Amino acid sequence: MSVTGTTISTPSVERSIDMTPSQRRTFDELIRAERTAALDEGAIGRVRARLHDAVRGSPGAAVRLGKAGLNDLARCPGLFDAVRAGERGPFAFSGRFAAGRLAHKAVELEVAGRDERDSYGLIEAAAVRLVEDDAFAAYWNGLDPLRRDESLMDAAKTLELFRSTFPPLRVMRRALAPSTEWHVRVELLGGALVLSGTLDLVLGVSDDLAAPSRLAIDLKTGRAWPEHAEDMRFYALLLALRFGVPPYRVATLYLDSGEWQSEDVDERVLHRAADRVIDAVRAAAASNAGRPFELRPGPYCTWCPRSSTCPVSQAAAR
Ligand code: SF4
Repeated sequence: MSVTGTTISTPSVERSIDMTPSQRRTFDELIRAERTAALDEGAIGRVRARLHDAVRGSPGAAVRLGKAGLNDLARCPGLFDAVRAGERGPFAFSGRFAAGRLAHKAVELEVAGRDERDSYGLIEAAAVRLVEDDAFAAYWNGLDPLRRDESLMDAAKTLELFRSTFPPLRVMRRALAPSTEWHVRVELLGGALVLSGTLDLVLGVSDDLAAPSRLAIDLKTGRAWPEHAEDMRFYALLLALRFGVPPYRVATLYLDSGEWQSEDVDERVLHRAADRVIDAVRAAAASNAGRPFELRPGPYCTWCPRSSTCPVSQAAAR
């Protein structure tokens, strides 16, 4: 049985590390804040059993799910079905997406690097790494130098926001065990249901249910959306199924403001994430069986692959 009302312990190393007020606040109020949730030893098994029951009760093709698919379903089952059917066009880099990739890569190099480096130098190093990927290279090499510099500067600003918000993770590696861009995949019932996702930042290493010490954080620029909390609940479920121990807390941190929304992980959080997965399993099975589904138009119709053919699409009205 885990214990509530405990402050997450980290070795005393942090006392000797200088932090700005903003870094200290994140450390004290997000990373080390008192844990309020508890899980008993049977919790993960109960959640896993519900998922197994849902898959067995919905025979059909294997279902692969990530947070994007769950959000599509929450918006409109037609959107979920269209994306699952492969109707979305091939992925294409945009300037905003490229800047995001650059910033995430730079955070990875920042956390993993041996030496302190200036933000712009780290971003340039990140770009060198990313062009090893053919898709990124095709986009990047097609930009004129001015656009490239703009993207580098955008990403450098994001990295600077990260540095000013988080305690110096590079020098606290031993205490906080940070890892970035953590791809996690779970296969249930021999691959009948596959859940996966990539976590921006995970702190802590413990796989002890009595004292869970992982904190999963998504980094965002821009404003908060309700689905961000659902995304993090899904990541809590993913880690719980993968390691048998969930993170003690999940959070979305908004780099522009330095604010975050966080949730301590208890069984209720895991069941809520499982509810969404079960809905998706059933929706996929219904689609595979050719059963009709509800259409729920909304602003997202503009990016739905069926926007021009759907009878209730709102795309034309916008
Ligand atoms: S166009 Fe809109 S209502 Fe129609 S399937 Fe797509 S998201 Fe749903």
